[in-house]
Amino acid sequence: VTVWPAYARIKKLSGGTPSSNTYPVNTRLNEKIAIFTGDITTLEIDCIVNAANRTLLGGGGVDGAIHRAAGPNLKIESGSLAPCETGEAKITYGYNLPAKCMVILDSHDVIHTVGPIGEKPDALESGYLNCLELAVAKNLKSIAFPCISTGVYGYPNKKAALVVLRTVREWLEKNDDKMDRIIFCLFMREDIEIYNRLLQDFFPLK
Ligand code: ADP
Repeated sequence: VTVWPAYARIKKLSGGTPSSNTYPVNTRLNEKIAIFTGDITTLEIDCIVNAANRTLLGGGGVDGAIHRAAGPNLKIESGSLAPCETGEAKITYGYNLPAKCMVILDSHDVIHTVGPIGEKPDALESGYLNCLELAVAKNLKSIAFPCISTGVYGYPNKKAALVVLRTVREWLEKNDDKMDRIIFCLFMREDIEIYNRLLQDFFPLK
């Protein structure tokens, strides 16, 4: 199993300066956070999160990549767990993935598909929390999240990152013995830039 280095130890990420030191320095929490740039299906960890639609039969984007990498048996199991209702997270075996398990979230829930103000921060937050709690309930110690809902579902990237980082920071403060590693898997240049900037605020190094 590959252990991804905590971001606190990756020098090249220390470029940004904290704009508002909202959260106190907590080295123990920092050691649990990592960012990974690339394909989530390559991660050898306990579980990866999939941003799916409610049918759980596979789709485009990260969902499609996960189904291709996991192989056809994933669809049989995930399809049998459908529908994935609002706020729910489900868990499956990882099949051909190097990750042991997969946590599935209906990423459609976190955004209205119609209307100019689509974002639903509460749904995004509860989605991440449900994934974390489900992983803990299954005794999984490492989890990787893609940038849920910021792809096809169009949640604005920076607004999503702000919700995600706050949610994870606050969850870890209460549950830091329950998870060893939380990885933000970044796929788009824009998200890499956003997370590099914002990590300093939510997980300040000093
Ligand atoms: P959603 O429907 O939740 O918006 P998408 O799959 O369209 O889901 O996009 C979610 C995020 O996942 C986007 O940032 C997208 O670039 C990213 N993504 C796509 N493929 C992969 C992959 N193989 N590994 C990690 N992230 C990916």
